Amino acid sequence: MAAGKRVVVIGGGVGGLTAGALLAREGFEVTVLEAHVYPGGCAGTFYHKGYHFDAGATVAGGFQKGGPHQIAGALLGITWQVERIEPAWVIHLPDCAITRWGEEMRWREERAAKLPALRHFWRIQEQAAEAAWQFAARLPEYPPASLADLLRLATKIRPNLIPISPLALMSMGQLLNLLNVRDPNARAFIDAQLLISAQTTSRKANALYGAIAVDLPRVGVYHPRGGIGNIARQLAEALAAHGGRIIYRHAVTQIERRADKTFRLHTNKGNTFEADIVLANLTPWALADLLGEAAPPALQREVKTRPSTWGAFTLYLGLPSAAVPSHAEHFQIVQDLSQPLGEGNSVFISISSPHDLSRAPSGMRAVTLSTHTAIAPWWHLRQNDPEGYQERIAQYRDRLLDAAERVIPNVRSAAQLILPGTPAAFQRFTRRPLGMVGGFPFASLLNVRGPHTGIENLWLVGDSIFPGQSTAGVTAGALRVAAEVVRNAARRRLVQVAQISAPSAS
Ligand SMILES: Cc1cc2nc3c(=O)[nH]c(=O)nc-3n(C[C@H](O)[C@H](O)[C@H](O)COP(=O)(O)OP(=O)(O)OC[C@H]3O[C@@H](n4cnc5c(N)ncnc54)[C@H](O)[C@@H]3O)c2cc1C
Repeated sequence: MAAGKRVVVIGGGVGGLTAGALLAREGFEVTVLEAHVYPGGCAGTFYHKGYHFDAGATVAGGFQKGGPHQIAGALLGITWQVERIEPAWVIHLPDCAITRWGEEMRWREERAAKLPALRHFWRIQEQAAEAAWQFAARLPEYPPASLADLLRLATKIRPNLIPISPLALMSMGQLLNLLNVRDPNARAFIDAQLLISAQTTSRKANALYGAIAVDLPRVGVYHPRGGIGNIARQLAEALAAHGGRIIYRHAVTQIERRADKTFRLHTNKGNTFEADIVLANLTPWALADLLGEAAPPALQREVKTRPSTWGAFTLYLGLPSAAVPSHAEHFQIVQDLSQPLGEGNSVFISISSPHDLSRAPSGMRAVTLSTHTAIAPWWHLRQNDPEGYQERIAQYRDRLLDAAERVIPNVRSAAQLILPGTPAAFQRFTRRPLGMVGGFPFASLLNVRGPHTGIENLWLVGDSIFPGQSTAGVTAGALRVAAEVVRNAARRRLVQVAQISAPSAS
């Protein structure tokens, strides 16, 4: 193995596996250390009593031509086991239901009938999303960390970005105000979709990012066969096919930076792994924990000052096929327009495909419900009031089941299995500190986190870096990090060759 080519990836989430597999393909010696017994993290599928439940993510995008998964798959030789689904999902507001068709004419008819207040919005949104998808496919060095990044970034800007550039500097709320969109249903429709993609609503979400976020049904929502975890499983296979390996049940407990600038990683099994390059598929908080006192001051500051992100409360249901609707697989329910979204007031429901018999016992379906929730009250109760904590779980379970009643009547009596998931469960199963999931809210394009950690050859991948959450988002981030690692290695080799071939001074 050539010097400088040992890569260890901490975590087998979609971001870590994509970056690891791409580097294995480039001839790096890649080891992915995964704490759990299966890959995928927040986009994993777990087995419980005959069901394969999607743990967090359920909606897969980015497989369209030029989409991040399509690009990574083509590079890695993966034929994705996915099928496009139609409609993408149905959004239930208190007094109407809006079907997000992918098919253009049906979607135009639906939005004209149900969301007339947004008629001017769609033209701008589609134009912005088109230009932004094309830009993203060119793997921009964003946010630029050096003059070289900035110069490379400049070469990737095309004229179609210029007319929509004002959106980069405004919030989605400001755009809707400019277009005089006052209809509460129209605002709630946009807000509900922004919350699950930009992690914030139109008041704060950046308009350009938001234009891409609400574009997902148009470019395509896909159903991975066997559950969303199959994306990570296919990536793990590609990693192995390109000579890399994934080692399960190995949690990294410490990153040691050595005097020669290489790394030694310690695991909970008492093993150590040496690396020239480390990719941390972690949040900044988790990375700082593993570095301990070796964490650079900027990272230490970041984890002290950055507001915590959302957590998730989930319910996993086993339901008879006869009890679930057949006109769509995904639903988003908003209960009360006068209340903030999240905390059970907006609930995403995903039902396993009727054609995917691997997901549930015969005649049954695996259903995942989720809502955004602030993490602090959960941890406060868990530490100080165990009874109050259990009451809170029961309360959130009821809120989610009430929302589910809108599309699955009598869900309580029909369910043969109900399993709740709290932020503590996400901390345990994905190792994300305090169960903070979903990346950072996308409020400003000028203040996004890049992959740099302050330590040479130690990179972040995953939904904490641009362009953020979703399996597609972390794949775009991974493509960019892998490209930079390859470029840096080539540069180092050039310097070494120059040093070797330079005539000695004597
Ligand atoms: C409830 C919920 C719903 C969502 N819905 C969607 C959706 O519908 N569509 C969508 O695209 N996205 C959705 N997302 C977001 C999406 O799941 C994430 O953005 C994405 O999967 C994060 O990938 P990641 O690469 O950051 O890794 P993670 O998913 O965070 O995985 C990290 C991996 O690293 C491992 N790990 C962590 N620490 C260590 C350690 N010290 N040593 C070894 N291994 C370690 C973990 O076990 C885990 O497997 C949802 C998320 C949640 C929580």
